[in-house]
Amino acid sequence: MKKYDYLIVGAGLFGAVFAHEACKAGKKCLVIDRRPHIGGNVYTEEIEGINVHKYGAHIFHTSNKEVWDYVNSFAEFNRYTNSPVARYKDELYNLPFNMNTFHALWGVKTPDEAKAKIEEQKAEAIAQMKAAGVSEPRNLREQAISLVGRDIYEKLIEGYTEKQWGRRAEELSAFIIRRLPVRFTYDNNYFNDKYQGIPEGGYTGLVEKMLAGSEVRLNTDFFADRSGYEALAEKTVFTGMVDEFYDYRFGELEYRSLKFETEVLDIDNYQGNAVVNYTEYEIPYTRIIEHKHFEFGTQEKTVITREYPAKWEKGDEPYYPMNDEKNNALFERYKELADKEDRVIFGGRLGEYKYYDMHQVIARALETAKKRG
Ligand code: FAD
Ligand code: UDP
Repeated sequence: MKKYDYLIVGAGLFGAVFAHEACKAGKKCLVIDRRPHIGGNVYTEEIEGINVHKYGAHIFHTSNKEVWDYVNSFAEFNRYTNSPVARYKDELYNLPFNMNTFHALWGVKTPDEAKAKIEEQKAEAIAQMKAAGVSEPRNLREQAISLVGRDIYEKLIEGYTEKQWGRRAEELSAFIIRRLPVRFTYDNNYFNDKYQGIPEGGYTGLVEKMLAGSEVRLNTDFFADRSGYEALAEKTVFTGMVDEFYDYRFGELEYRSLKFETEVLDIDNYQGNAVVNYTEYEIPYTRIIEHKHFEFGTQEKTVITREYPAKWEKGDEPYYPMNDEKNNALFERYKELADKEDRVIFGGRLGEYKYYDMHQVIARALETAKKRG
């Protein structure tokens, strides 16, 4: 008999949800994380009475009622609705791309006028696709121009995208831009989902509640004593990098990293909105977030964070998987090995190498706990 039923590597959302479900089913869990805190990328920390999103803006959104009820059983959510503002040089535009954006850019007032303008502007991308004998956009550039036209592509997409991913838009997958809604209504809500909000008191408290029944060890790297940790439990749930788990035997998957620069300012309102995107290539950060606006804060001071995209190298935090054809094919080779393991379960953004949002990670963890827990 081993001491634990599960060793869970990673105290992020996948690990925490799995641990909670396993404990509910009467199992014993040991959760380890190499970071000095729980929560993974959703970790928040209080500074000047403000819940600071330490790894970038995290807005919870979902249309999945089961997931929404689940997270609400751990925390109350506020009514925050994400409506970022995009700044291109001295011009400001509403996001996502909607009638407010089209009006500010072209002076159009009706949906028909906006659609006509986009039709006119997407002709170039359509012609390129026709010449290549394809009917679907092959890359992010063609996809973006077909959706919103050349002007928006040049001002609000190209620079932001190329600094975010460190690649030309022609070399990126079309799916990345399909995350964003395009609407012919005057609606600045960044998401289409039915439910949205931020947990009151921050995400760390929510994850803490999920982990209440488990033993948690921080500053603990699985790879420092892999066989020792594995020997402690019947099964391992691994939410780190799948290629690292297999010692990169087929080669390295690519990731994109970020650097965050946080500042406390002695003013009460810096930018009037939680998220402002800087879309020109020449500005090295992609966005500035002002944390108090996620929770309608009225503190005397404010805390802002600049988010800089960065090349990923071994040892850096792998924030985003690079889900292009080459990396997805390499991941499939690792997945073949992973699927054969009967004592290891892989999950989460890194374990499954997928650009998952929080609600998707939670749904996957609940599903996995039900099936394999
Ligand atoms: P993680 O949170 O990465 O947790 C994995 C954990 O495993 C980490 O804590 C890591 O330290 C630990 N670990 C890894 N390897 C080891 C090891 N060898 N030993 C011990 N521990 C290890 N989603 C939304 O829904 N809305 C948003 O607004 C949103 N904004 C985002 C903004 C940014 C900048 C980023 C990067 C992501 C955003 N997301 C958002 C996505 C969200 O962060 C993820 O879906 C979610 O946090 C993934 O949870 P996870 O448990 O899979 O991974
Ligand atoms: N994007 C853009 N301009 C913006 C915001 C987003 O071109 O002002 C593109 C960019 O390619 C980005 C993608 O849309 O990677 C998805 O944006 P999202 O805000 O969903 O990114 P995340 O929050 O996951 O970093």
